[in-house]
Amino acid sequence: MSTESAIRTTTDANCIFCKIVAGQIPCHRLFEDGDAIAFLDIAPLADGHALLVPKAHAGRLEDLPPDVVGAVTASLGRVAAAVMKAVGAPGYNVLQNNGAVAGQVVPHVHFHIIPRSANDGLGFRWNAQQRAPEQLAALRSKIGEI
Ligand code: AMP
Ligand code: ZN
Repeated sequence: MSTESAIRTTTDANCIFCKIVAGQIPCHRLFEDGDAIAFLDIAPLADGHALLVPKAHAGRLEDLPPDVVGAVTASLGRVAAAVMKAVGAPGYNVLQNNGAVAGQVVPHVHFHIIPRSANDGLGFRWNAQQRAPEQLAALRSKIGEI
């Protein structure tokens, strides 16, 4: 493990990804280090669709301390490159859902790595809206310091 942090040993006995981390249910493991495991998604959007999962249980990205987020996401590019090479995809999306309204089904943080090819039929509804400068300024003020 790259740093000491109590969250790194947090598990949830009822969590399917914690069970995969513990080896209690099988997966097609692609990669593993002290902080994360990557395996093939059981219901892929494309060949090579993989999940990179922190070993520690946390429901949402903001529940993980920054050092753990850093340690886990450090492996995204490496896993993606291996998957792309294997399936011959020229690109990929990284997708990370937080909350049911955002499409999160498994309440254990995970990063989807989704290989993309031309005309693969995948995509987002990217319905960009217009906002006046004063509307953006008011919202920025409401958010405050982060
Ligand atoms: P999300 O909607 O972001 O929570 O995505 C959860 C993902 O986990 C889905 O793409 C599922 O297909 C995948 N998944 C669920 N159970 C397993 C499993 N046992 N092994 C591999 N992938 C799984
Ligand atoms: Zn878990």
